[in-house]
Amino acid sequence: MAKIHQLSATLSNQIAAGEVIERPASVVKELAENAIDAQATQVDITVEEAGLKLIEILDNGIGIEAEDVPTAFLRHATSKILTTRDLFNVHSLGFRGEALASIAAVADVTMTTATDNGLGTKAHLRGGKLLTTEETASRRGTQLIVRDLFFNTPARLKYVKSQNTELARIVDIVNRLAMGHPEVAFTLRHNGKMVSRTAGHGDLQQTLAGIYGVSAAKSMLFFEGEDLDFKVSGYVSLPDTTRASQQYISLMINGRYIRNYKLTHAVIDGYGSKLMVGRYPLAVIDIAMDPLLVDVNVHPTKAEVRLSKEDQLRALISQSIRERLAKENLIPDALSNL
Ligand code: ADP
Ligand code: MG
Repeated sequence: MAKIHQLSATLSNQIAAGEVIERPASVVKELAENAIDAQATQVDITVEEAGLKLIEILDNGIGIEAEDVPTAFLRHATSKILTTRDLFNVHSLGFRGEALASIAAVADVTMTTATDNGLGTKAHLRGGKLLTTEETASRRGTQLIVRDLFFNTPARLKYVKSQNTELARIVDIVNRLAMGHPEVAFTLRHNGKMVSRTAGHGDLQQTLAGIYGVSAAKSMLFFEGEDLDFKVSGYVSLPDTTRASQQYISLMINGRYIRNYKLTHAVIDGYGSKLMVGRYPLAVIDIAMDPLLVDVNVHPTKAEVRLSKEDQLRALISQSIRERLAKENLIPDALSNL
């Protein structure tokens, strides 16, 4: 008798979920990215008990046609890429077609979606099984309600940390997404209280005011720089406004927030000797480049990327920040000479 068999869709989705959906914040990240990809201008996120009890995401984006709803929950099902060529020229945040399938595999999910105000579709899934779909009245956009996260994967549930830690991760994700998308108004509520809110007027400094407070945002300096391949711009704090962690240095490539040790250090290098030991600036760095120069298909969570011409980009970031800070220091000197 044959000993090798292909795993069922349910089981393979659970395995994939292990990579993509590590914790409540992963759900928030994937669903908010979907909302951004759907051209939403308003994304309202509600969580209860740090997302373990409930995560709800409501957007006013393009919605999903009724016939596409069951497909959207299949693994490797996406509207965002079609060919190998597209894979190396990704213009959306999503492209792997794994998030909805993975989330539905490890939780109870209700989606309500409509492509126009009026009639929409409501689908209910649990543990990877599509239980019901029905027509329903809905406004244009999509609402996902995720309950009982990890109910069928007890090991993962145990791995989740305290609610404070998990909530902090959710806030961090939402803030980074908001910084990458100042044109989108985000709200984040936890246990009924507003935790974070951005204006969505398209102005990055105003978005930063929503995240770091008005006075910190106002004191940050706008910088920009470009070479043949990259355009960098953003806001950096003065060397006297610092934090004890590098986590307040945010990097965005074409609107996608990424983690990259070397680029983070390029920002710090831009400050030269102006920072005290163990202190790091607040910084938001927007990097615009041809998608062909960045491979986003490196890691299931898409937070790590592989860059061509990384050294060139590092140099550009450091130099642009260094020059901007140098200008700032000239002002008091110039005044004192009057
Ligand atoms: P991916 O984002 O990688 O395509 P997902 O599993 O996250 O994969 O989503 C599958 C598909 O479902 C998307 O390609 C998109 O067509 C659709 N979709 C998901 N969320 C939304 C949303 N909020 N609004 C509109 N369409 C959505
Ligand atoms: Mg997605």
